[in-house]
Amino acid sequence: MTLKLEGKSIVITGAASGIGRASALLFAQEGAKLLLVDRADEVEATASAVRASGGTADARVADVSSEAEVEAFVAAAVSRHGALDGIFANAGISGGVRALDELTAEDWLRVLNVNLIGAFLAVKHAARVMVPAGRGAIVCTASVAGIRSGAGGLPYSASKAGVISLVQTTANQLAGSGVRINAVCPGLIETGMTQAIFDRARERGNEHKIGQLNPLRRSGQAHEIASAAMFLLSDSASYVNGQALAVDGGLTSSLPVVP
Ligand code: NAD
Repeated sequence: MTLKLEGKSIVITGAASGIGRASALLFAQEGAKLLLVDRADEVEATASAVRASGGTADARVADVSSEAEVEAFVAAAVSRHGALDGIFANAGISGGVRALDELTAEDWLRVLNVNLIGAFLAVKHAARVMVPAGRGAIVCTASVAGIRSGAGGLPYSASKAGVISLVQTTANQLAGSGVRINAVCPGLIETGMTQAIFDRARERGNEHKIGQLNPLRRSGQAHEIASAAMFLLSDSASYVNGQALAVDGGLTSSLPVVP
């Protein structure tokens, strides 16, 4: 059986937790050689879990909003594995969930620096390596919040709409280079970021309500986003470029059905 990411050198940001961690475990199972990046030290635990399951992964603590640190981890992946075939720019934070008149410029900057500038820096430095090689795949984590309103605060939603625009515009800028770029847009997934929502619902005995408006009648799981990112990074997606793929159980394409 052919593995979907056999021998590919891939960087994953935000790999200490949630979607990034699930992606590390899945990509490694499919043969990728990984450099796992996070600002949290727990990224080492993800790399250890990958190695314990027979995969290849190194860990690196870095902040995706620092250009010097992004440039350095991209260079580290190339020097370790001789190439950079893919990057999953997935690190992100929530925040700025406040009423319009209470929001500050600092709330905006905090979220934009990680979610949008962080994605931009990963795209920029990955492309610097991939374009001369004439190949590569980039996937950024956006969100359903970047497609429709109603999830997350204003800065978060705007940052994720910005990520979608970054992907679409970069696909054009990279035309003819052999490098593809796409976004994955998760719906509500139980991870570190959303743990409080799920904990609160469980405390109130309301957990079943979380997925009530979703056509699949449930929230999603981190490995389901990892699968979509893996597809977009793999050669199976060789003609998929500049897209924002919603992985949300159908939430953004549906109106609630009135029985
Ligand atoms: P998570 O909190 O479990 O994981 C996010 C990881 O990013 C953490 O390990 C965190 O330390 C890391 N990170 C944050 N800022 C960083 C920085 N400056 N530099 C390096 N690493 C940093 O949450 P998650 O849900 O797995 O989030 C992954 C991505 O998915 C994010 O971009 C998030 O916005 C997006 N997303 C999540 C959901 C959801 O419901 N969980 C929905 C839509 C989109």
